[in-house]
Amino acid sequence: MDLNNIIFVENYSQLLDMKKLIQKNEFVSFDLEANGLHRYPEKVCLLQFATDKNIYLVDPLIIEDISPLREIFVDDSIQKIIHASGYDIRCLDRDWGFRIKNIFDTSIAASFIGSNKLGLNSLLNEHLSLNLPENKIFQKADWTNRPLSKDLIKYASEDVLYLKTLRDILINKLDKLGRLEWVIEEFHLLESIRYEFKNEETAYLSIKGTGVLDSRSLTILSCLYKFRDLEARRRDKPPFKIISDRKLVEMSNNWKDEIKKLDNISFKKNAFYLRLFKAFEKGINCEIKPRPKVEKKIIKISHDDQINMKERLHHLKSWRNRMSKKLNIAPSLVWPLASLNRLSKKSHKFELELFDISIRDWQKKIFSKDLDQFLSSLLKI
Ligand SMILES: [Zn+2]
Repeated sequence: MDLNNIIFVENYSQLLDMKKLIQKNEFVSFDLEANGLHRYPEKVCLLQFATDKNIYLVDPLIIEDISPLREIFVDDSIQKIIHASGYDIRCLDRDWGFRIKNIFDTSIAASFIGSNKLGLNSLLNEHLSLNLPENKIFQKADWTNRPLSKDLIKYASEDVLYLKTLRDILINKLDKLGRLEWVIEEFHLLESIRYEFKNEETAYLSIKGTGVLDSRSLTILSCLYKFRDLEARRRDKPPFKIISDRKLVEMSNNWKDEIKKLDNISFKKNAFYLRLFKAFEKGINCEIKPRPKVEKKIIKISHDDQINMKERLHHLKSWRNRMSKKLNIAPSLVWPLASLNRLSKKSHKFELELFDISIRDWQKKIFSKDLDQFLSSLLKI
């Protein structure tokens, strides 16, 4: 198969035809392109599927109802081969509530055979000796625009063209290393990823740098944040292109100066500044929104214990690094850091830690005996 086998799917009956053909396969390669860099709210603009025979480019901006695709995504008997699938899974959930079953993620698979660079082009280069040009222009394109240029069509198609071949090579290598079971467990966990809609009322609190703001400035920030969001929708542009996060915090902090600056602008000529001014006014005059208190559990630990914990954590991290080198996989894949942190406390029971949901079955199988022993030797410290 090559780029001559591209089929454009631009209406409902073509979509049904494609669905029937894909359903005859045990796998389908998949990717999508969205417009988050250019539009707001972001939406999916192109869905790419590839079988052994064809590449399908589905246009969800023209086809009103793409719900037949749901059957492909939830079908456990069709493997969806996706590169770095997290983003795609969230987009499909956000725009259509689609769930995906039976995922093969080429990025995760590669991370378990020790590939350092996990970008698609790097993996194609490493495992297939393919040299595709890294093209930032296409990555940053506005996929909302039609017609899609020849270059964009080629780029979108190449994103799915080699996934099956890459998968076969990775499976072979994983099998030889005895790690197929490990990645299958990771793939299963991907199925429960959901898009998390942000809470519009509290989203401003998660902007970086709000810690320095007094309560009035913080209240003003909440109003400016809402203003920016509305403005982004009005212009169909992402919020960061209206006003950056940093600038928003700065403006809230120096609100007195900002108001003075606005005094010199003629609102008649610029409705944007009038709306900005009103947002300031609202924030200045409304009741103060107190910063929500974060409940922190205060556990008293003696100074000596703290030093011991630090030392144990240091040793646990070295243990993890040793395993990481031995198996040639990233330390974070060996064992979660948060778990090592808990284990550095003397009182924490190792058997209990094994029940934590962040610990994979394969990790327990491979490392728990070794880690348990290592931990016992440490606790003598
Ligand atoms: Zn892509």
